[in-house]
Amino acid sequence: MHDKTIAQLSRSLESGDFSSEELTTHLLGRVERLGPQLNAFVTVTGELALEQARAADQRRAAGDAGPLTGIPIVHKDLFCTKGVLTTCASRILDNFVSPYDATVVKNLREAGTVMLGKTNMDEFAMGSSNENSCFGPVKNPWDETRVPGGSSGGSAAAVAARLVPGATGTDTGGSIRQPAALSGITGLKPTYGRVSRYGMVAFASSLDQAGTLTRSAEDAAIMLGAMAGFDPKDSTSAEKDVPDYRATLDDSLDGLRIGVPREFFDDGLAPANKTAVEDAIRELEKLGAKISEIRLPNLGLSVPTYYVVAPAECSSNLSRFDGVRFGHRAEKYADLTDMYEKTRGEGFGAEVKRRIMTGTYVLSAGYYDAYYLKAQKVRQLIAADYAEAFKSVDLIAGPTTPTPAFELGAKTDDPITMYLNDIYTIGANLAGLPGLSVPCGLVDDLPVGLQIVGSHFGEARLLNAAHRFQQVTDWHTRAPEID
Ligand code: GLN
Repeated sequence: MHDKTIAQLSRSLESGDFSSEELTTHLLGRVERLGPQLNAFVTVTGELALEQARAADQRRAAGDAGPLTGIPIVHKDLFCTKGVLTTCASRILDNFVSPYDATVVKNLREAGTVMLGKTNMDEFAMGSSNENSCFGPVKNPWDETRVPGGSSGGSAAAVAARLVPGATGTDTGGSIRQPAALSGITGLKPTYGRVSRYGMVAFASSLDQAGTLTRSAEDAAIMLGAMAGFDPKDSTSAEKDVPDYRATLDDSLDGLRIGVPREFFDDGLAPANKTAVEDAIRELEKLGAKISEIRLPNLGLSVPTYYVVAPAECSSNLSRFDGVRFGHRAEKYADLTDMYEKTRGEGFGAEVKRRIMTGTYVLSAGYYDAYYLKAQKVRQLIAADYAEAFKSVDLIAGPTTPTPAFELGAKTDDPITMYLNDIYTIGANLAGLPGLSVPCGLVDDLPVGLQIVGSHFGEARLLNAAHRFQQVTDWHTRAPEID
């Protein structure tokens, strides 16, 4: 059962091969056995899951089932879940039980999904290796001495290890696509505004976007269809109809124009990754796509730009965690200021503190123009590069990451090297564009990802290209030997 995709499970549930309760029980068994080994979960909601599964079975029996009815999923632990712990993998929220559901959680619940639990992540989604969690690092199911990628590492590891067929994640600078690539699964970051951010604990509000981690593009289409849409509770969510993403999955790629940015194939790209990505692009060409080289001249500025904008927004967003309203509070303190200082000193991990300090600095009176304002201008240049490229191509393809999964601890002492992991993914966030990563090869038994970026609200075309690619390749069906 656990090898099946959401689409396959959905058909099995419909034809009565097994019930959602049976499926949920089976997957909970795997979560219990393999979850701790990978450290993929913060919370397992077994009882709730079985309750939801039984309700889904009843709904199906009553003839009221959709494609997600009875399908087990997990949520990254920064989506608020009513009555269930929501920690963001931070000590400062280690006792926070949300009084409401995030819109993503609500939408997926109403679609009939069964929540198995909440997944481990980098603290407040800051990181690329899932080593910045107060619950310890997540391990890559392909090689447990390596990172699964981050910050949605728990979601990626759980889907890759076949503990669950689908998961939610968030992507501020690559946190869905990068762990998807390193864990050998399919990760989709939608257009900024496509999915509501309500109830998703904010890191950098102008960049954060919720998306999916699944084992196929078809499954991403199914999940996105349920998650996306306008939400009056998020003023940045788009008032745009949600297309039927499944309806166009099989469309021909004949004549589809795919641009390959020269800047993506730089010295930092490992030769074996380069070969795998080039082979994948050739597959797309065989499917009828027209490949051409394009330029994104300002792409090299995306990492420094991001590391001004994102910390600036995070320093403001995280000021709410002060020990007064919710979460952890220091036990002993002399006065109010001392309480703030001790609470935040104890509550936040090193990377979060580094970001808050950087953000506060770039927003301070003397440096605002030199750093923050400058970064905003460069952001516009990067967005303009993409806009220019999309005048002549429909999609942009390249690597998701420079290398396959690296060893745990390999980059923890060097934040800059860690930040460079997202060099190919950050541009899409700065420009608000949708992007996905699909498995396109194995290098020394470690997965490699092909990234495809689309134009604003171009998810359907993105998923179409990824689906056709997955019909002629089998990288996405390869599983780590974990049990
Ligand atoms: N790795 C990037 C960072 O540390 C991106 C994180 C994300 O997308 N949430 O900020």
